[in-house]
Amino acid sequence: MKVKVNQECIGCGMCIDICPEVFEYNDEGLSTAKSEEISDSLNDSVTEAMEACPVDAIEAE
Ligand code: SF4
Repeated sequence: MKVKVNQECIGCGMCIDICPEVFEYNDEGLSTAKSEEISDSLNDSVTEAMEACPVDAIEAE
């Protein structure tokens, strides 16, 4: 799975709480994916973070 956080992020921190293996704060206090390509074992956790994001800022394929 490939994942990225788009410009819509408001820095609520929800995805970082749910899946800290993938998401972290950047210098602007917004979320960013630590790496674009993530392990399949984290798919469920990333999907949960996507569904929790209030502004649909997480994109995955
Ligand atoms: S849940 Fe969405 S808005 Fe909140 S920090 Fe993560 S990407 Fe940004």
